[in-house]
Amino acid sequence: MDKRPALMRAEDGSVLLSPSQLNTFELCPRKWAWNRINGVREPQKAAAALGEAVHNQLELYLKNGKNIDTSTKAGQIAMSGIEWMPTPQTPGMRVEEWFAFPYGGFVFRGKKDFEIVDRDPRPLVSDHKTTSNFRWAQTPDTLEDDFQAAIYAADAMIKSGKSEVDLQWTYFKTVGGRASEPVKKVMTEDMVERTMLRVIQVAENLRFVGEEYTDAKQVPYNADACEAYGGCYYADHCKLTAKEKLKAIMAQQNTQTLLEKLRKKKEAAAAAAKQTAPEITEEFSPTPGKKNEINPPDKPPPPPDARQDSKGNWVQAVWDPGHQEWVFPAEEFEAEVVPANADVDKPEKKRVAKPQKKVKLKAVPDPVGPETPPTISAASVLESFADLIAAKVAERLSGGRD
Ligand code: SF4
Repeated sequence: MDKRPALMRAEDGSVLLSPSQLNTFELCPRKWAWNRINGVREPQKAAAALGEAVHNQLELYLKNGKNIDTSTKAGQIAMSGIEWMPTPQTPGMRVEEWFAFPYGGFVFRGKKDFEIVDRDPRPLVSDHKTTSNFRWAQTPDTLEDDFQAAIYAADAMIKSGKSEVDLQWTYFKTVGGRASEPVKKVMTEDMVERTMLRVIQVAENLRFVGEEYTDAKQVPYNADACEAYGGCYYADHCKLTAKEKLKAIMAQQNTQTLLEKLRKKKEAAAAAAKQTAPEITEEFSPTPGKKNEINPPDKPPPPPDARQDSKGNWVQAVWDPGHQEWVFPAEEFEAEVVPANADVDKPEKKRVAKPQKKVKLKAVPDPVGPETPPTISAASVLESFADLIAAKVAERLSGGRD
């Protein structure tokens, strides 16, 4: 059992997320929780191991120009799609490189199979997919709504400053005759922005589950996903009865909507608790020693030295218990009791040194309000994508970026 933290965080505390985490969580939050909260790792399936071997062949070919090894099954599969690959070592091409960018209060990261950012008219971003049948492949329409496609395209837009990106998802068939086909899509800024809104919603729910739950068994689940992709590995851990599955399916409760409701409920409860925090309404006496006095000093501090007034007389300061300070009687000015709603920006007039005149003060809430760190919601920080790209371009032009 792996006891890594459920949520990986960047230095500033933002949660780090990959497209695969988001996809798993969207499919079934409990499936994500078994892996990330309970540390139950799913063993690699044979199909995933074959996919990895195909990726390795293509990486060596694109990065170093190494010939594909067609004596292996993985090599033969990779070779079937070679016509869709760019020339090895194309200038400016990045192969299997990590990226990360902050957006909407999260940091999204991943590793692209290859991309060419400095390319006209648009950057090219590509991913290799192995599949038993092309019927599982994305279409240009579904690619537009795909989390991985949106995150990859967003990163290319930020890097290039361009508002469109060419996507190419190349599908390599692993069963039956060797064949490959690419699915291509021009992703626009609007498409990315729209899909990223969904990404943020799922990311908020994921963070909520990661912070609030300690056991996958308590996490809401999607019974529709139990049989997907050949059956869920965690079925034996969940042990859902047929009745539970049926009930969940009949309820037709979208798990993301359910989590959103739970999250909002918790946020509302936290906000209400903050508002009902006790306020000081009681009158208090500023006289030292009274029970409701704020930070009463044990005794007055030593008086300042005597000094001469305008007539040349030596005067000694007297203790003003109302203001807890020493004042000189010769320097009296107009008395003023500042009303509770007074403009706090007005310069304060000097106070009267009349210790015999006791002024009752009333504790009032600070008109500026307590200093609390701003709470950041996805909606409040979801920058305009155009602004984000423009900022990155300006940064590059000013030499702030390589
Ligand atoms: S068995 Fe079903 S409910 Fe349990 S984690 Fe898998 S998909 Fe979710």
